Amino acid sequence: MRLPYVTDLKDVDVMVVGAPFDTGATFRVGARFGPSAVREASALLRPYNPAQEIAIFERLSVVDGGDIVVAPGFIEDSYARIEAHLRPILEAGVIPLVIGGDHSVVLAELRAAAAKHGPVGLVQFDSHSDCWDQYFGHRYTHGTPIRRAAEEGLLDTKRSIQVGLRGGLYAPGDYALSTELGLDIVTTMEMRERGLPAVAAQIRERLGTGPCFVSFDVDFLDPAYAPGTGTPEVGGFTTYEALYLLRALKGVEIVAADIVEVLPAYDHGEITALAGATVGYELLSLMAQAQ
Ligand code: MN
Ligand code: MN
Repeated sequence: MRLPYVTDLKDVDVMVVGAPFDTGATFRVGARFGPSAVREASALLRPYNPAQEIAIFERLSVVDGGDIVVAPGFIEDSYARIEAHLRPILEAGVIPLVIGGDHSVVLAELRAAAAKHGPVGLVQFDSHSDCWDQYFGHRYTHGTPIRRAAEEGLLDTKRSIQVGLRGGLYAPGDYALSTELGLDIVTTMEMRERGLPAVAAQIRERLGTGPCFVSFDVDFLDPAYAPGTGTPEVGGFTTYEALYLLRALKGVEIVAADIVEVLPAYDHGEITALAGATVGYELLSLMAQAQ
């Protein structure tokens, strides 16, 4: 959005931050280039959002804080760096809008958010629950961060919900990995049967009042709308449907948010990068509404 590069937190409401880490990915890698691709696509976005009837920058001071220096290949070190980078931002009352990176980075973001706000409500748009205990015998990957976050007490699980789950699993009980942690889930099949307005109302009710984290894994979208991602799942949602669900979050207290799993090397015509940037645009619009 052609935002100024600013690292001083004074008089800032929202800071966009890149987290170019992708070695938590279990399939395709390359999401480390997500922040630069999303930034580039975002140059097209205009400051007035008619869908939310909001002039974002009249309400909100938004800056681009640049990228976090992560350590490729070293996830626990990168978690420490990401958390250390985000803590002062949150401490200053600034909302971080993080661009990943693979979804593993959300654990560090949630550690930082919970340090400031206590356990947060979570809405996760994703075709995967990311609630496995381990992948390839390892506890920290992009398939495990939500389980780790629940175990670490970073989530207010009674106010947390995962939407859009679909695709093959390993066993019939795998969706219970989420519900046993206390999270609510809505699968893609259920969303199609019940309709999006009913699901939007359920999300809103689930989040209730109190600090919330919005995590948008771009594979929530169908690969036709977001081919550039690490673990695509067919049978998903259109970009319009995603924007509809985001707009329904009006009134939610968003204290931090992210857009993850944009992987430019598999993208075509910058479709996925533009989708990611536009998700960020709707999130900024929601944050502006709340000012
Ligand atoms: Mn994910
Ligand atoms: Mn996913």
